[in-house]
Amino acid sequence: MDDYALVLNAGSSSLKFCVYQRPRDNDWEIAARGQIEGIGTSPRLSAKDAQGAVLVNNSLDASVADGHAAIEALASWLRSKWPGAHVLGVGHRVVHGGTRYGQPVLLTRQTLSDLYELVPLAPLHQPYNLAAIDAVFERLPGVPQVACFDTGFHAGHSQVVELIPLPKEICKSGLRRYGFHGLSYEYIASVLPTVAPAIAKARVIVAHLGSGASLCALKDGRSLDSTLGFTALDGLCMGTRPGAIDPGVLLYLFQNLELSAKEVETMLYKQSGLLGISGISNDMRDLLGRSEPEARLAVDYFVYRAAKEIGALAAVLGGVDALVFTAGIGENSSEIRRRICEASSWLGLDLDAQANTSGNSRISTEQSRVSAWVVPTNEELMIARHTWSLLGFMQPVS
Ligand code: ADP
Repeated sequence: MDDYALVLNAGSSSLKFCVYQRPRDNDWEIAARGQIEGIGTSPRLSAKDAQGAVLVNNSLDASVADGHAAIEALASWLRSKWPGAHVLGVGHRVVHGGTRYGQPVLLTRQTLSDLYELVPLAPLHQPYNLAAIDAVFERLPGVPQVACFDTGFHAGHSQVVELIPLPKEICKSGLRRYGFHGLSYEYIASVLPTVAPAIAKARVIVAHLGSGASLCALKDGRSLDSTLGFTALDGLCMGTRPGAIDPGVLLYLFQNLELSAKEVETMLYKQSGLLGISGISNDMRDLLGRSEPEARLAVDYFVYRAAKEIGALAAVLGGVDALVFTAGIGENSSEIRRRICEASSWLGLDLDAQANTSGNSRISTEQSRVSAWVVPTNEELMIARHTWSLLGFMQPVS
C-alpha cells in the first residue's frame, strides 16, 4: 500500500492542498495540487496532478460551509481517489506563531490552544488555519500534524527592527513587529542559489505581491526586515487591507465616527486596500482591465506604496543588488512589475521591457546595476520540507 502525506493551507473561503505520495521504495512525489474554493458560498473542488492534468473539477454541496466540512469533503475525495491509502502526516500553514512558536512544531491539543490565543492578531487567517488542524485531529486522530509559521523566517530580527515604540509595560505582552509571508520568503531564499546564484548572498528585496502583499529585505539569504509587523495590516496596500496608515486615523474612527472595535477590524481586514479605494474589486487583474478613475487610483496607490517601501528597505540594507517579484501579482502582472521597476529606476534598476513580457526569470538589462527577477513561490513545498524533516521523512523535491 502506498503512503501519503498532506499539506494544507486553509483560508477563510478556500482550502489549498497538496497530496504527496511515497510509492514503495521511492522518494516523495507530488500526486495532486488543488483547492476547495468558495467555502460558504459556491464550493468547488479542483485538483491537478504533477503534469497539470485535471484530476477533479466539481462543484460541491452547499453544506460545505466551513473549514470542518471542507476537510470532510477533501477526505472523501482522497478516499475515493486513493482507496486504502495510509496518511502518514499533515503539514499546515499557520500565519502567526507569536513569541512562543518560531520554528515548525509538532502539534498537540495544548499547542493548538496556545495558537488560538493569537487569533486576535490575525483574524483573517489564524482561525481558519487552526480549524483545519482541529478537523484533522478529529478525523485522523493518530496522524501527526505539523504547524509551519509565516512569522518563523523573520525570527532573529534585531531589537530595533522588532520594536514597537509604545510604553515598555505594554510591549511586554508580545507587542512587537514579527513579519509575515515567511514561508514564501524562505522558499525564495532557498532557490536563489540555483536560479540566480550571483545574488543569492547579496542584498535582495523580495516583493511578495498577492492578495496579501509585503516586501522582505534579504541579506545572505536571511531576513533583516519586512514591511509587515505585529499583524498582517502594515506596509503595502493589499487586496482588502490598507497597509500602513496614520494611527490617528484609528482614533478618529473610534472617537469621531464612533465605530466599534469589530467594525474597525472588519474595515481594516476586509473593506480597505484595493477594494476600498476602487469600490470595484480587490483583485488586481480586474482593476487592470477597468478604465474607471477609481480603479486607476487603486493601482496607482499600490505601485506608489510598493516603490516607497522598496526605497525604505534599500536604506535598511545599505543599498540593494536585486529585486525579486513573486506571488500572484508579482509572478503574473508584467504591467505592475514594469511600473514598480520604473519607479525604482533611481536605484540603478533598468528594466528589460522584452524580458519582462516574455516569461524570463531575469527581467533587467545586462547593464542594470540592480538586477530584477521573477521567481515563482511555493509555500506548500516549504511546508512539506519542514513537515517531512520534523517527522523524519526524506525530503520531497517538488
Ligand atoms: P493569495 O494566495 O494571497 O490569495 P495570490 O498570490 O494568488 O494571492 O495572488 C492573487 C492576486 O494575484 C489577485 O489580486 C489576482 O488578481 C492577481 N493576479 C493573478 N494573475 C494576474 C495577472 N495575470 N495580472 C494581474 N494580476 C494577477
